[in-house]
Amino acid sequence: MKLLEDRIRRDGKVCEGNILRVDSFLNHQIDPALMQALAEEFHRLYGDRKIDKVLTVEASGIAIAIMVALSFGVPLVFAKKAKSKNIDNENVYSADVVSFTHGTVNKVIISKEFLHAGENVLLIDDFLANGQAMLGLMDVVAQAGATVAGIGIMVEKSYQKGRALLEERGVRVESLARVASMDAETGIRFVGE
Ligand code: 5GP
Repeated sequence: MKLLEDRIRRDGKVCEGNILRVDSFLNHQIDPALMQALAEEFHRLYGDRKIDKVLTVEASGIAIAIMVALSFGVPLVFAKKAKSKNIDNENVYSADVVSFTHGTVNKVIISKEFLHAGENVLLIDDFLANGQAMLGLMDVVAQAGATVAGIGIMVEKSYQKGRALLEERGVRVESLARVASMDAETGIRFVGE
C-alpha cells in the first residue's frame, strides 16, 4: 500500500538488531488518520469473510487493531503478556511467544470469557518478523475451538521467515507494506521494487 510505504520511507528509522522504528506514527506517537486508512484497506481485503472478532497482542498491535475492529463492527480482544508463571489455566488460554524485540519468552494469555468456539477471528499486528506472535495467537484461537479467518499485518519484513511459517499452516496473510531489505546506509526496499 503506497500510503504506508511512503510514510515508512519518510519517517521510519532502520536501527540495530534488524528493527524498523516507526515511533512517530505507531509505536510511540500514533497517527489516527493513517490507522483509519490502513484499517479500511484491511476491511477491503477481508470484507468477503465473516469476522466475529479481531485479536492482537498488547501493546503495539492495539492501535491498528482497534480501527480494524471498528471497521468490521466487532470487538477487539488483545492478548495480555503475563509476567507470572502462575497462570490460572481454568480461566485463560495461553501460549509461549518469543519476543522479537526483547528476545525473552512471554506467556500470552486470553480470558476464556472473550474467545469462544465457532468464532471467526481476524488476527492483526503491527509487524511480522519470525511469526512467533502470530503463531502464539493461532495457538490460543485453536485452544478455544475458534477459527483464524486470516492475518492482517501492517509491516512485514519479507526477508524473515514469518510469512512462510504462517502460510505453511494454511492461513491467508495480507501485509500492507512488505520490506524486501533494509539497511541504515542504503535505506528500505519494498517487495516489487
Ligand atoms: P515476530 O513474532 O513475527 O517474530 O515479531 C513480531 C512482533 O515483534 C511484533 O508484534 C512487533 O511488536 C515486534 N517487531 C518485530 N520486528 C519489529 C520491527 O522491525 N520494528 C518494530 N517496531 N517492532 C517489531
